[in-house]
Amino acid sequence: MITWKNLIGHAATIDYLKKTIAEKTFPHAVIFSGIEGIGKRLAAEICAAALLCENTIDGSPCGECENCHLIAAGSHPDFYVVEAEATKTTRSIKIAQIRELQTEVSRRPLNSERRVVILDGAEFMNNAAANCLLKTIEEPPSQTIFILLTANYSSLLMTIRSRCMAVKFDKLTIEQIRDGLIDRGVEMSEAERISIIADGSFGKALKLQDSDGAKLREMALDMLEKISRAELSNEDIFKQGEEISAWPKDKFTDFLTDIQKLLRDICFAEVSKPYNPDLLPRLTKIKIPERKIFAMIKIGAEFHKRLNSNANLRLLAEAYLLKLKNFLR
Ligand SMILES: [Zn+2]
Repeated sequence: MITWKNLIGHAATIDYLKKTIAEKTFPHAVIFSGIEGIGKRLAAEICAAALLCENTIDGSPCGECENCHLIAAGSHPDFYVVEAEATKTTRSIKIAQIRELQTEVSRRPLNSERRVVILDGAEFMNNAAANCLLKTIEEPPSQTIFILLTANYSSLLMTIRSRCMAVKFDKLTIEQIRDGLIDRGVEMSEAERISIIADGSFGKALKLQDSDGAKLREMALDMLEKISRAELSNEDIFKQGEEISAWPKDKFTDFLTDIQKLLRDICFAEVSKPYNPDLLPRLTKIKIPERKIFAMIKIGAEFHKRLNSNANLRLLAEAYLLKLKNFLR
């Protein structure tokens, strides 16, 4: 359900937006500005839902009418989103997208009294697109509301800025991000660590949390470094086995795959595209004879197969690490 409760922080801004919706004074063109990942898009979607809802309650969508259901399903005919298209190097909103938008808004809304348009990434319009949009905003089809989102307000054309009400979204506090992460099931200590480095952006915090994969890879590399220096004790392996026994099987599969890729990079990074280019400075320091690396990769492949059986994960992990270790002894 689309509700203001889903938005983290921004209490004063939410109050203001709800008030304008309840009092039917929501501006016909508005710019939500603020850094990436703080909830501008979500806020815009909730506004859209509330503006299209038949039974708005105190500036909030009711969540029960047909319009609310259509919005939640992403299929409301009077809700239109323009997004920047990304290529490898750039993001842009092209003039063709704005022309399509113009055609759309020239029609009467189908289901509601009005239409709501979200333009996400307004800073990615080139001048032609921005001027084209400007015409639409200047001579608005009466029933259309435009919500522009941008992380770079000052880069928007002055002419566009001057025609839109500006609503600024501030960075979130460390506590807001921490609590938001905890609500999503992230462990307290991890939530605290991430909230400090997320720089006020919940979106960034989620990405950082997602990079659990980076931690796993680091663990795999650490393991290989220790093995190559003959520093991995049996005790280390059993400790590791205990930790792994609490993992879902998929995670161990990823761990195994990470080791395989690291081994390939140690061997082939010079002749083929490495899997882990960022780790090459450390990988080149690992000295293992090439024929041994091939054998270790083969061992990894065998254990990969054994994972498909119902083997005990802990025993399997310990056997694997012991085999690698003893192989290099
Ligand atoms: Zn509703």
